[in-house]
Amino acid sequence: MPQLRQNIILKEWVIIATERAKRPEQLKEDKDINNVKLPEHDDTCPFCAGNEEKFDNVTELYRIGDKANWKLRVIPNKYPALAPLQDGIRINTTGYMRWMDGIGNHEVLIESPRHNLTLATMETSDIEDVLFAYQMRITTLMALPYIESVIPFRNHGKRAGASLIHPHSQIIALPVIPKDVISRMNESIRYHEEHRECIFCKVLQSELESKERIVLETDHFLVFVPYAAYSPFALWIYPKRHASSFCDVEAEEIKDLSVVLQKSLRKLYFGLNDPDYNYIIRSAPKGYSNSAFFHWYITLIPRLTRTAGFELGSGMFINPSIPEENAQYLRGIEI
Ligand SMILES: [Zn+2]
Ligand SMILES: [Zn+2]
Repeated sequence: MPQLRQNIILKEWVIIATERAKRPEQLKEDKDINNVKLPEHDDTCPFCAGNEEKFDNVTELYRIGDKANWKLRVIPNKYPALAPLQDGIRINTTGYMRWMDGIGNHEVLIESPRHNLTLATMETSDIEDVLFAYQMRITTLMALPYIESVIPFRNHGKRAGASLIHPHSQIIALPVIPKDVISRMNESIRYHEEHRECIFCKVLQSELESKERIVLETDHFLVFVPYAAYSPFALWIYPKRHASSFCDVEAEEIKDLSVVLQKSLRKLYFGLNDPDYNYIIRSAPKGYSNSAFFHWYITLIPRLTRTAGFELGSGMFINPSIPEENAQYLRGIEI
């Protein structure tokens, strides 16, 4: 019997299509990860070490390492979705049309000077640097008076929207709070009003008790397949300590998270043959960084299925796999 499950955080219903559910092995990418031969350096890549001037990528917002021997760099996106503020923000309205200047910041975080690495194949200490750099940039961008929310994310592979192979993440800072972020805030406020507890802490506690959907657990983090996962092998990485903002994660937790993130990505890499994926750090927007109701976390979504007309028409997802089976499969992947 198919099941409708509700994501309690957004109150969204998901169809778990048990009748046509695919076994985890059937969702593997059809490629040989041992046979991918990318060069360490590519002359035509704007993010490779040594190509900075050739591609006019000399403006640095942040760097780890020496100028000539860097480990990580943050630069402005060459084709930004939004531009930094020149003068005041004005919202204009004519009839039903409402618009404002495309103000904001769009940055690229180049995770390694090497062309052919990805987070799943990097050293754990390199991932720690990446996480630390996110924290630095989010803190800096949040301090800008015209910024309301900051969205750090990573696109891996074409289906996830990545146009360059070189390992990188992006950070977009917005002068508004997006609708999804507002809904998540509103629902968590409502839950807190009613139950006097954080909905995310509640989810965490309940997943720790049931154990069915856990992929891995450390001192500070829990990785699990959400009960109402929208798509196969979607993962939530929850910190055990309640905190609303990623900027408040402590050094020891960042160290633990680098291990947790890498293990999660390696399980996908080896278990599903390097699937395309997106991850997003869901950290509190401005003004909510110390709230009792919001709890930061990471959403990691392998792009193994495509959304179609039904999803567009209803805003509901059909997941052709079973979250508990996905978790069990990933738990068993040796890394
Ligand atoms: Zn490169
Ligand atoms: Zn919490």
